[in-house]
Amino acid sequence: MNPNFRQRAKEALQRAKAEMASGCEERLTYAALELRMAIECVTYERAKSFEKELPPQEYDVWQPGKLMKVLLELEPLADASGTVSFGKERELGVPAEEMKTLGYEKVFNLKDIKGSYDALGSFLHQPTLRQFNSGGHDWRKLRSRCDELMVKLDAVLASPVFNINFGTFTTFNCMNEDCGKTVRKRLPCGQTEVPVVCFECGAEHVVQVESTGAHMVRPLVQDVSCANAECGHVLKLFRHEIREGAYWKCPECGTQCRIGLAVFADMSAPQSEG
Ligand SMILES: [Zn+2]
Ligand SMILES: [Zn+2]
Repeated sequence: MNPNFRQRAKEALQRAKAEMASGCEERLTYAALELRMAIECVTYERAKSFEKELPPQEYDVWQPGKLMKVLLELEPLADASGTVSFGKERELGVPAEEMKTLGYEKVFNLKDIKGSYDALGSFLHQPTLRQFNSGGHDWRKLRSRCDELMVKLDAVLASPVFNINFGTFTTFNCMNEDCGKTVRKRLPCGQTEVPVVCFECGAEHVVQVESTGAHMVRPLVQDVSCANAECGHVLKLFRHEIREGAYWKCPECGTQCRIGLAVFADMSAPQSEG
């Protein structure tokens, strides 16, 4: 399924406008609800362009603020508005003299979300006892907040280009021999060590990025020695494999090795007397 969140946002905004136009105080609540839906839609739409990079456990996140924070972790410019232009470089790395502009994209950013989403939410409930004592909901405030938001959302939804998502990516095969699935990762500008987790099996890797742009992937593994002290065979395990109950047969001496929790006497701690 591929929901068209942009279209849904437009429809929610339209319904909000109709509620606002009624001039009826009680219907402002419905306008606030529709505007919250529109904010969710524009944020989900943004998240769609990061679908392949988004850890599957984040697919359940529905709060726009939380979701946008996840996107910002993937790409610090995920919520930035900007103009898309293109041109042919005569020399590699030297900006082209002639640029053609495709258009400006206004993004509903984290600051916009923080400033509006929760504030609207408080109008979807009965006023608290404290609010009742001071006169109930401030409808005038809600109306001006909704007016402001409609202007912002109109600008976001009128952008001629949208979901701009440029980046440098690396693709490699997961280094866990049992997995080997293709892993795709964005390499944020200026970051020299990029941690990467395989979504398929959980194996951790690090991408080392050189100043020349060349990069190298290494698995984050730990040496684990065979339980048979006389054998000395060392196995390399990913961190997600080092868990209680994990076991393997040593390829060298055949000993069944198992990982377990253990309690040790801490000889470095001061011993109590008597
Ligand atoms: Zn994997
Ligand atoms: Zn062994």
